[in-house]
Amino acid sequence: MKYLFDLHTHTIASGHAYSTLQEMVSAAKDKGIKLLGISDHAPAMPGSAYIYHFHNTRVIPRNMQDIKLMIGVEANIISHNGKLDMSKEDLRNLDYTIASFHPPCIKAGSKKENTKALLRVMENPYVNIIGHPDDVRFTMDYEEIVLGAKENKVLLEVNNASLNPKGFRVDAVKATREILKFCEKYDQPVILGSDAHISCDIANFCYGEKLVEEIGFPQELIVNLSMERLKGFMKKI
Ligand SMILES: [Zn+2]
Ligand SMILES: [Zn+2]
Repeated sequence: MKYLFDLHTHTIASGHAYSTLQEMVSAAKDKGIKLLGISDHAPAMPGSAYIYHFHNTRVIPRNMQDIKLMIGVEANIISHNGKLDMSKEDLRNLDYTIASFHPPCIKAGSKKENTKALLRVMENPYVNIIGHPDDVRFTMDYEEIVLGAKENKVLLEVNNASLNPKGFRVDAVKATREILKFCEKYDQPVILGSDAHISCDIANFCYGEKLVEEIGFPQELIVNLSMERLKGFMKKI
């Protein structure tokens, strides 16, 4: 596997995912990645874990079966002012944060409102990655989003689940193409994420890989190919 890590994955703690942490680690080892990030849904997602789940993550070793582990969260954007369902104190305890729009947690606003919300989210110093910015239910000005990501050292994700033709985020391919066009223009790296909800999907980047190859997106702007590239986007404070 040429990609070194996958930081968007869910365990049974998310409520609608199907593998345990140990099953995830074993699958990551089988896939040949070096680093696995666990990003269970934060508490505002119906059926996900209580906040105590995220307070107790220090008990998890950060190296299991020779796989480096990072324990983070996929936080929910819950207001158009960019508020998340996890406080800064909650996020400080975790290794990294993905922030995403999810329909059960916020009603989509206008293009202007969604763009403003995401720009505010990216100013949060604990946010490292924006999950599936391709969701066209939350229309956005992608040029502004890419510029905001660059300014705040945040990664935009190329989400494999969104790009799956059987997926529920329609038109994600078109949106991702547009995002990638601006990322290339402004020299802004992206991260491939599987959004695995079962262990066998870890590091499954098939649709994202096909798309970046098809449009000739520069390899040096894909952080999953280098641990060094990732470092610049992790812990900022
Ligand atoms: Zn989920
Ligand atoms: Zn998500």
